[in-house]
This record gives sequence, structure tokens and C-alpha cells, in this order.
Amino acid sequence: MTPQSEDFSAWFNELVLKAELVDRGPVRGTMVIRPYGYRIWELLQSDLDRRIKETGHQNAYFPLLIPQSYLQREAEHVEGFAPELAVVTHAGGKVLEEPLIVRPTSETVIGEYMAKWISSYRDLPLLLNQWANVVRWELRPRLLLRTTEFLWQEGHTAHADQADAMRETMLALEEIYARTVRELAAMPVVEGEKTPSERFAGAVRTFTIEGMMRDGRALQAGTSHYMGTNFARAAAIQYTGEDGRLTHAHTTSWGLSTRLIGGVIMTHGDDKGLVLPPRVAPYQVVIVPIGRGDQGAEVIAAAAALAQRLADSGIRAHVDDRPQLSPGFKFNDWELRGVPIRLELGPRDLAAGTAVMARRLGEGKEPISLDSAPARLADELEAFQDFLFERATAFRDSHTVTTDEWDDFTKAVAVGWARALHCGTPECEEEIKAATGATARCIPLDGEPESGPCILCGRPSAYGKRVIFGRAY
Ligand SMILES: [Zn+2]
Repeated sequence: MTPQSEDFSAWFNELVLKAELVDRGPVRGTMVIRPYGYRIWELLQSDLDRRIKETGHQNAYFPLLIPQSYLQREAEHVEGFAPELAVVTHAGGKVLEEPLIVRPTSETVIGEYMAKWISSYRDLPLLLNQWANVVRWELRPRLLLRTTEFLWQEGHTAHADQADAMRETMLALEEIYARTVRELAAMPVVEGEKTPSERFAGAVRTFTIEGMMRDGRALQAGTSHYMGTNFARAAAIQYTGEDGRLTHAHTTSWGLSTRLIGGVIMTHGDDKGLVLPPRVAPYQVVIVPIGRGDQGAEVIAAAAALAQRLADSGIRAHVDDRPQLSPGFKFNDWELRGVPIRLELGPRDLAAGTAVMARRLGEGKEPISLDSAPARLADELEAFQDFLFERATAFRDSHTVTTDEWDDFTKAVAVGWARALHCGTPECEEEIKAATGATARCIPLDGEPESGPCILCGRPSAYGKRVIFGRAY
């Protein structure tokens, strides 16, 4: 495999195929998610789904095909999405009277039904979530990061007023996204607000969680939008208040997609392959039986019994009993596929009541007792999960520079992030992008109050805080 230091993109593209996470789809820009990759998605998805439900949302499903006229109701929204739309013009052997859009996102169709279902203040808030696929025609597709079709969830909610809708926007960002991404994906994401030029098409405010990948680039891992009354006006989402007055609702939407799997790979992986945080690893422990003939059969039976004991204690364990492959091949294979812990079990280990443990990022191997293996491995997996988060945090912090000097800024964004003051004008952001390739990633929520001259143009800074700039995926 190409080393990360030589060509990070090549490393990523080779790894996702070799590790059997995905395959290229038959249509350019599409991908097949293979079982090993899909399992990672399921683990993230089930945690997100639990949090979404625990915070009062209900799942629903809306149609894939959206009448073109729906999208045209919100001017900024349609302008933002127009270049990426896939449009169905023919069906059933005829030209359609009205073209249909393959959903790029579902604000417009869900808005239509919110308008229908909401009439009184008693119907609010309406808290919906949809698990679905969406299609956005990508001109420069990348497996897992920018694919023409991807899987995601989209939360859509309607509220009586701005305060309640803003509470929801931040709840999705902080209590749902940031927690799942930190606790499961072990990605130390920064929570912040997008600058106006980076906002979602049609939103009043857009918030994001941004992670730093091992090449220093940022990955937007999830976004949450406060729409104000823009979509409510477009779709006539109105309610009669306690005072009897007809009022527009305030809406939000928030989405997190399969690109998060790309984030996990680029946050933790190394030249040997994937490094999976235990909580999203399809197999947390892989047992490789060693030995041939009668002894081999005995070892395989013991490995299966051990895997069952691990499973009983909540550890996802797998026995690699492929007879045609050597132990050495299997060790490399599971290293490539990022399994946190490997156990080797041979006749001599079995006689001694032990197995040999090797950690994905550890030096050397050590024997562990079979009797206490479930408790010991649970501790090891927990420690590995924490270690990955701490390592990624240290990497991010050592590649983030706070600066007021343009020269330092350009050096910082070549290898990581820069925290700088900015005037807030889109033209100046555009100039920074043209000069360095870096964009405004976010205005961190936890930034200290600060002001001064803009890093590029010297005009007074906006936002009252520093902005994080970096090159991004
Ligand atoms: Zn400026």
C-alpha cells in the first residue's frame, strides 16, 4: 500500500478497497458498501438512532422522488442544489408532465407534510427523523467521502419560535452528533458555527462538527441547521397560536452520513491499514488458531469456545479458521482491516491455559490467561478506545496554530489548522482560499472572546472570536 506520507489520497483509496469496506459502483461516483464497511455504519447508526429517539424524535419515511416544483419554492435552496440534482424526465415509457427530482435532501417534501399535519400550537414541536439514501451528482467523486449516492439520517423539526428551534439545532449538534462521534468514532471533533458563505442553502445558521484527519485536512462530520421561517414560508408551515393568530413555524434540519466512516479511517489509520476504535469495530477481537491435523481441530474447537465466552460478555469476537491461509497471512490481513486485538491460540498455549495477545498499535505480544480473558479483553478494548481519542486529540492540537501573522497562517494551513481573526466578508474568505486552499471551517463554540485586524485584509474582525481555517475534504 502507498504510505500516508507519500500520498495520503492514494493510501485512502487503496485501503478502503483492500480492507473490503467498499467497492466502486457501476455508475461513476457510486459505491457498493461491503459487509465489513456496512457493519461499521450499523454500529454508528444504531447509537445515533438510540440518541435520536431518546431525545424525543420519531422515525418516518418520505418518498425518494420529489416534484420539481417543490424544490423551486425556496430560492436559495434550489440555487444551491441545482448543479447536483439528478432529474427523472421519463417514466413508464413517456415523458413526464412534471420532472421529478431524486432527493438530494428532504426539506421540501417533508415541509409539504409538516404544513398538512400542523395546524395548532399543540402540534408543536414536530420532531421527525428519516434514515435514507440521497443523490447529489458529484463531479469529483471520492469513495466514502463524496459519492453520488450516500446513506444518512436527516432530522427535520418544526417549532413554535426561534428559541425552541435553536435549542433543537444545538441539541442535534452537541447531544446527538458530537457525542456519538467522540464516544464511538473516537474523533475529537470541534463544534462550531459556519461562516455565512459556508452555510447550507436556505439556512439562517449552520453548525458543524469538524474533525482533523491525519494529513491535517478537516472533515465536516455532521451539520445542524436553523432555517428560521425560510422553509416554513416556502411550504406554508403555519400554526394557530394560543392567542388565535396564524404564525409561521421555525424549522431545523440536521444530517450525518456514511462519510463518517471515511472520517474514522483518516483519523486513526496508518501505513499498515485501518485502525478501528473498538466501539465501531465489526470484530473487536480476532482469534487465529494455530496448528494442523488433530491438534488443529482441538485448537479450533477451543477458539470457538473462547469466542463464545467473549460474545457472552459483550465482546464481538471472530475465529479466523480459514484452512487455506497461513497464520502469518491472517495476522497481516486483520492488521490491514484494523482489528483492535488479535489472539493467537496454539496447542502449547492451550496446554498452558493461555493465548497470545497482540494489540493493533502495540509493540510485541504477551500471553493472557484464558480463564480471565473476557474481563481482561474488555479492559484492553476500553483502554484502546481511550488511547485512540487521546492520540487524535494530541495530533489535532499539535497541528493547530493560533496566529495573527499571514506567513504563519499559510504554513499552518499547509499541514493543519490555523485559528485566526477574520473580517467576515465572503470575498476575503475567497481570497484566502485562492491563496492557500484553506476555507473557514467553523467559528468554535468554545472560542474565547477576541477581536483585532483580519488575518488577510486587516479590516476589523467579525464574530467576536477566532475562526478555524484549514483545507478540507
Ligand atoms: Zn478580511
